[in-house]
Amino acid sequence: PSPGFDVVIVGAGAAGLMCALTAGYVGRRVLVLDHANKPGKKILMSGGGRCNFTNLATGPANFFSGNPHFCISALKRYRPEHFVELVERHGVDYVEKAPGQLFCAHSAKELLDVLLTECEWAGVELRLKTAVERIEPVGEAMRLVTSTGRIEAGAVVIATGGLSIPTMGATGFGYDIARQFGLEVTETRPALVPFTLTSQWKARVADLAGVACDVAVSAVRAGQRLGPGRERRYREPMLFTHRGLSGPGMLQISSYWQPGDELEIDLLPNISVGEALAAARHDTPRRQLSTWLGECLPRRLAQALTEWHGEDPILAELSNARLEAWHERLGHWRLKPAGTEGWRTAEVTLGGVDTASISSKDFSVEGLPQLRFIGEVLDVTGELGGYNFQWAWASGVACGNAL
Ligand code: FAD
Repeated sequence: PSPGFDVVIVGAGAAGLMCALTAGYVGRRVLVLDHANKPGKKILMSGGGRCNFTNLATGPANFFSGNPHFCISALKRYRPEHFVELVERHGVDYVEKAPGQLFCAHSAKELLDVLLTECEWAGVELRLKTAVERIEPVGEAMRLVTSTGRIEAGAVVIATGGLSIPTMGATGFGYDIARQFGLEVTETRPALVPFTLTSQWKARVADLAGVACDVAVSAVRAGQRLGPGRERRYREPMLFTHRGLSGPGMLQISSYWQPGDELEIDLLPNISVGEALAAARHDTPRRQLSTWLGECLPRRLAQALTEWHGEDPILAELSNARLEAWHERLGHWRLKPAGTEGWRTAEVTLGGVDTASISSKDFSVEGLPQLRFIGEVLDVTGELGGYNFQWAWASGVACGNAL
């Protein structure tokens, strides 16, 4: 027979482990279940193996959700500095790769070890290779029917994450439980994911695999520009790959993109292309267009552009109309992706358990306080840059403290 637990947490990922150690420290008897053979697999694979574990500038504007206010309370109470303090206490070295984005200096494994050590100190029990078959309320408590037996607990926390990377153990289990208890689940979509191209474009960019450049990118739907902030675009690098377009800029805009939308890419976001070309035509009229392009862009891309458009005149031969055409091609490159690489490589899931019936204070379900949802399974999705882990930590702590 299983000993009684105050809390059973389903999912030994970022949010589940953080919730477990927090609840353990406030004196709860905590069991964490996971069907995988190891905890925290996504932590290990994140940030190219170095885990971008937080972003110092995290705020509600960095998240997508049907209810943009839902994340505010937890994010305010557990801030990036709190997590940094934990990391420093364990002597884990970290680096700020881009402004605000903190990564492990050596390996994400060190970060996972911090969480597992803290769980051990807090008396948390971890049971792997355990599938949950059913969850049912019994009076004011909950019963879980698992592949290794029945467990009774005062509360169940669902921390099973999103649908991305099914080979790492992602399942729709959390959404099924939500529906079982009458909660809505908003439409889910792969996000922070590379784009695939139509066969025509794929053939064109085949030779560019590995080329990267800084761009500004927006999604365009029915003439309307979509993207963050006032400029409605992301200014981050783009990477050509064998399959299509990737890199931070493309991953970011994929969270706005829907099938049928075009991308609008500014290949030279730091200059006004029309003015710069006109000035170059005046100052260096004998120079070839590809030479000028090669000074502003990676050589291979500059060459490809003149090939795609079938012209490489000397600048003096650029009429105002042709100059304007190049301004459009470089500053407003419109391209319709075939799709995205989907769940296989997406970093996160857009959408999830609707927050309408969930408390933003303790993450309990309205009318059923013994059931809670935290982390990515909820309809809260961060931008690229460490925000998704900060949400996992913050929602885990808020829930764990209230158990
Ligand atoms: P997860 O960490 O996914 O944990 C869910 C756990 O639940 C897993 O252990 C899983 O095995 C378990 N589980 C699922 N179904 C069941 C079931 N039916 N029964 C039992 N257990 C189950 N975010 C960042 O902020 N920075 C990054 O650098 C970053 N890099 C990423 C790189 C990649 C390749 C990917 C895929 C994601 C990355 N993310 C990053 C996103 C981040 O990993 C997630 O947002 C975060 O892990 C979500 O935490 P979670 O605890 O909610 O879910």
